[in-house]
Amino acid sequence: MARFIFITGGVVSSLGKGLASAALGALLQARGYTVRLRKLDPYLNVDPGTMSPFEHGEVFVTDDGAETDLDLGHYERFTGVAARKTDSVSSGRIYSNVLERERRGDYLGKTIQVIPHVTNEIKDFIRIGEDEVDFMLCEIGGTVGDIEGLPFFEAIRQFAQEKPHGQCLFMHLTLLPFIKASGELKTKPTQHSVKELRSIGLAPDILVCRSEGPIPLKEREKLALFCNVRPDAVIAAQDLASIYEAPLAYHREGLDQAVLDAFAISPAPRPDLNRWEDVADRINNPEGEVRVAIVGKYTQLEDAYKSIAEALTHGGMANRVKVKADWIDAEIFEREDPAPYLEDFDAILVPGGFGERGTEGKIKAAEFARTRKVPYLGICLGMQMAVIEAARHLADLGDAGSEEFDHEAGKKRFTPVVYHLKEWVQGNYKVTRSADDDKGGTMRLGAYDAVLAEGSRVAEVYGSTAIEERHRHRYEVDIKYREALETQGLMFSGMSPDGRLPEIVEVKDHPWFIGVQFHPELKSKPFEPHPLFRDFIRAAKENSRLV
Ligand code: GLN
Repeated sequence: MARFIFITGGVVSSLGKGLASAALGALLQARGYTVRLRKLDPYLNVDPGTMSPFEHGEVFVTDDGAETDLDLGHYERFTGVAARKTDSVSSGRIYSNVLERERRGDYLGKTIQVIPHVTNEIKDFIRIGEDEVDFMLCEIGGTVGDIEGLPFFEAIRQFAQEKPHGQCLFMHLTLLPFIKASGELKTKPTQHSVKELRSIGLAPDILVCRSEGPIPLKEREKLALFCNVRPDAVIAAQDLASIYEAPLAYHREGLDQAVLDAFAISPAPRPDLNRWEDVADRINNPEGEVRVAIVGKYTQLEDAYKSIAEALTHGGMANRVKVKADWIDAEIFEREDPAPYLEDFDAILVPGGFGERGTEGKIKAAEFARTRKVPYLGICLGMQMAVIEAARHLADLGDAGSEEFDHEAGKKRFTPVVYHLKEWVQGNYKVTRSADDDKGGTMRLGAYDAVLAEGSRVAEVYGSTAIEERHRHRYEVDIKYREALETQGLMFSGMSPDGRLPEIVEVKDHPWFIGVQFHPELKSKPFEPHPLFRDFIRAAKENSRLV
């Protein structure tokens, strides 16, 4: 049976709870344990699928097709454990389950209340698969004191109460602000935050304190005394140059040891940190720098493309270069020539996106990359734009476009080289959608197989002709145009197993031009960079004449 670690946050949001959880997961693995990480989010959206990337950052998609919070991306990148649908839940989902059951009459006419019905639903969620791993790490989103978080805090309190002693641990992440004028690190907000936790029946075993610099012994002792934790369970979390140093940094601070001590695991298995030492070495000792332009829509908020930024970093690590990514608003290219903007870059990436805005600019970026022979990686919408560009400029289809944009505009303006897919095969099932299904969950979502053409560049990059990658889209490139495009040098080098859906296109006589219908960035890890990102950065490095 698993031991449970509940991670909560206090004082302010954005302290890096997700990262701390992920790093702790990695450290427990380094000690030989199996782990699973979960996120419980207090917002009322049923899932993050329909939330704006501007507000919530990227939607992370799991193999089993769940649209989840970007923290699940951190969990996967640090532990390599593929997240599942059952690793992420929101208040919206919990309430919607409870209300659905109420409508079905499952509660036999009883009054439905937050305690016990909502809290029971949360506890049932936490228990899923509890026998599968040694440690289950559950992060509660938001900050202690938030009204909407209360049912979750109450549920984990009950949960720990119902388990035998010593099977659950509470770790609380806070901030120690540094007051410049007095030169002091302040512990009071943490004391208040712990007080708030205790008022709802939760006592932290471990305090992780974010601070700009080291925490002097005096402050540690004070925190331990006032917050009722052991002094060696006060863990300093200083700002780091790279998130991938977090496992080693937390290990140096004694986090994993404190966790094992709290569970009374003795003797503690020795950690094998080789993987993270290699990662840190690659991050800290690059042999050069390559510049990648990311031409997209959600450029104000880097979190909107979190996994892409991380996968580029991983690609850099594989090639021992630092990747400097610059985000360029695609709309600029609708008014101005892209050349002056793009000429200085070693490679161009057009990421996924939804809606028409900025797409003509992305098409311009794809054209620049194709004609100027700059390495290009098009992801999902970025692949669709590359196909439209080739259809317009190579295959004489001047009005080539996507049905997505016609759908939005309510009239037909384009020849739909990219069309709205309404029926497809997933494993042994046929999936059917209508044009006006709900916005949530109507996409081709999750892992699908693809077959790569022998001798293609992608088959070489992957070192295989059978791959599985994650999808999140409604539209597809129409194979009707395959022949016309292939005779012009745009090869359909990856297809769905039934041969109906183009998964990958590549330009033949080009140093590196690949478009993929899926999201390779979601599967990249620092210790196992995704082959496409690894080779894309290799090509960028070659283009930069670093080699
Ligand atoms: N909007 C496009 C589609 O739905 C691309 C989606 C994406 O880039 N994730 O097919």
